[in-house]
Order: sequence, then C-alpha cells, then structure tokens
Amino acid sequence: MTRQPNIHPRIAAIEQQLIAWRRHFHQHPETGFEEHETGRYIVEQLQGIDVEIQHPVAQTGVVALMSNGDGPTIALRADMDALPIQETGDVPYKSTRDGVMHACGHDAHMATLLGAATALDQLRDQWHGTIKFIFQPGEEGFAGAKQMIDAGVLKDPQVAAIFGLHVWNYQDYGTVGVKPGPTLAAADEFEITVTGTGGHAALPQQTVDIILVAAQLVVALQSIVSRNLDPLESGVVSIGMIRGGQTFNVIPTEVLLKGTARAMREEDRLLIKARIGEICQGVASTYGAAINLNYHDSYPPTINDAQMSSLVLEAARVVVGDGAGPPFLSMGGEDMAFFLQEVPGCFFFVGSAKPEHRERPAPHHCAHFDINERALAVGASVFIEIVQRIMPGA
Ligand SMILES: [Zn+2]
Ligand SMILES: [Zn+2]
Repeated sequence: MTRQPNIHPRIAAIEQQLIAWRRHFHQHPETGFEEHETGRYIVEQLQGIDVEIQHPVAQTGVVALMSNGDGPTIALRADMDALPIQETGDVPYKSTRDGVMHACGHDAHMATLLGAATALDQLRDQWHGTIKFIFQPGEEGFAGAKQMIDAGVLKDPQVAAIFGLHVWNYQDYGTVGVKPGPTLAAADEFEITVTGTGGHAALPQQTVDIILVAAQLVVALQSIVSRNLDPLESGVVSIGMIRGGQTFNVIPTEVLLKGTARAMREEDRLLIKARIGEICQGVASTYGAAINLNYHDSYPPTINDAQMSSLVLEAARVVVGDGAGPPFLSMGGEDMAFFLQEVPGCFFFVGSAKPEHRERPAPHHCAHFDINERALAVGASVFIEIVQRIMPGA
C-alpha cells in the first residue's frame, strides 16, 4: 500500500459533499438514456457555481461551461448511466430502484466531476481558459459519447483536449493508472447464421451437416488471434453462444453463433473483422453451407495521446506519488474512445478497491459492486492538477 494521497485542499474541504453526491446517485440509478432525474439533479447541484449550463444535450446529458479569460478550452467528462442489475450488497446507500444499480462506478464519476467543478470555480486565479464539464449519458453499450459529439459538445468553443477517469476496483485505493496509447479495447459483436439442407443423421450424404460446419467455424476463428495477429499485440475472438439442432438423429437446418471480437488497435480490429468474414466465406464454400455474418462495429479502442498521458501522469504523481503508474489493463471497452478519436486526451484509472476486496473481490458490473469512496477525492484532485498544468494562471 502506498502512502496516503495528497488530496487538494479545496477538495479535502468538500470531500463529504462528494461522497454525499455519489450516494445520492447510487441510490437513484437510471440506465442509458433514461438519466432524466440524474441530469436534473446535476443541474441543481451546479446552481451555486458560475457556469453556463446546457441541458438536456443528447436527450439527458449536461454540459457546464466555465469560462475564465483567454486560454485553451478543455473538457472533463463523466458518464451517467447505471446498469440493469439488482444490487445485492448491504450498504446504507443501496439502490432504491429494483433491478437498476450503479455497478460500474459512474455515480462516482459524476460526483468527482461535480467536486472538480466546485473547486475549480474557487481556484480561478490558478487557471485561464474555458472548461467544459461534460456529463454524458449511455456509456454502457449506447455509445452516448458519440451522440454528445454529434450534438456538438466538442465545438463552439472547440475543445483542444479531453480527460476522463474511471474508478477501478482492480487497483488499490491510492493508485492512479495512466497509459499512453491503447488503453481499452475495441469491443465488437457478431452473429453468424449457418444454414443448410438438414435431414436424417444416418444419411449425412443427403445433407449439408451444419453442426460440423459450425464446429469448423469455431475452431477456424481461433486461428485469427493465434496465426494472423502480431503476437506482440492483443486481440480476442470469443464465441459466447452456439445454438442449433433439436435431437440426436436429425441434422438441423440452422445454427446460430454469437461472439465478440476485441482488439487494442484499430488496424488489428480491422484485421480481425476481415478475417472473420473470409473464414465464414471459406468454410461456407468448403462445406456447401450458407453462412451469413452480421458484424456490428461497437466501441473503437480507447487511445490516449502520448503528451496528454505524460501530463496526467505528472498530475497524478502530485496526488498519489509512486501510486501513479501503469493501470490494470483489460480487454474491456469504453465509449470515451469516441471523444479520443476527435481530440487528444487521456482516460485514466483511479484505484478504488476496498481492503475487504482482497478477500472478496467486487468487480465492475457485479451485483455487490462498491468502491472506496475516498477515491472520489483522489480523482477530483487529479482533475485539478491537470487543469493547472494545461492552462496555468498568470
Ligand atoms: Zn461498465
Ligand atoms: Zn464504466
């Protein structure tokens, strides 16, 4: 365990408020593009702060513009949505809504951003320029970031750099993970339908055995990552569902497969996608089956700008010292990727594991997910250090 974080004094003074905000959001979760009450609550909480508010943006989002003289415009982003999960943890601030829960930590992101806005409003002698506080709906599979971009949140004034964070239960409290370049994966989905002439299992010569074809497909698809992808790069092809046939002695006419393809770089994503298509075609013609591939481009890889990442690392060192370093990486996806395709920036991870999570881990998206709430103050402090570095005051 690293030493105690060096929380910015302006954040330390309002830490209880940050926790109260997080608990309010936690108790009142709303899923993607349903964040109506969440958006209104954010607007209310911003009332005491000198910002220009736009709401709703992209249905439920909120943008708060804080202007402070000449200088660059940067954006700080938080996501707003909860998940369709029934909370099982026993906490006093448990979700009050059946089947809906902030199980990814987006409640913490909103509270952190509100905290940063409050403090930065009070610290106007220490930075110059304009900050856009972006509260974005629908991160969990709805590509809310893309809708915010389409609504123009990066323009007028044009955003020069964007930063966002994720509380991260895979890292201890008191750590901040920053990585230049690919940080989270592209996470695409695909569906393959194999059809052929079914028939009696004892007369395979009269059929196209699509169970055999599906089995060949599953095996052949695994050659993409092992044989086509550069071994020094990362990718995943997983078939998560295979459905076909009714009984032991009938060759069916349709088999459905569903899977996910993940990659850390756009070129690898394109390679995997192309190879899935080629393999489907090749296997279809080899066995005389019809194979239909429906490939859905989901989130691109989350790619951090090198220069912005060094700036965030520097900022994080002020707050957590040696606790700043490479993050715990996964092949998860995140729609912050869309913002980072438009403008340079950095998405970083704030360690939020509680000591008891060593015994019983509480991973993101699980029904007893909870965080060390002191991570909010760490995240907000890093945001302040970032702003002071990228747009310093006179
Ligand atoms: Zn999530
Ligand atoms: Zn998340």
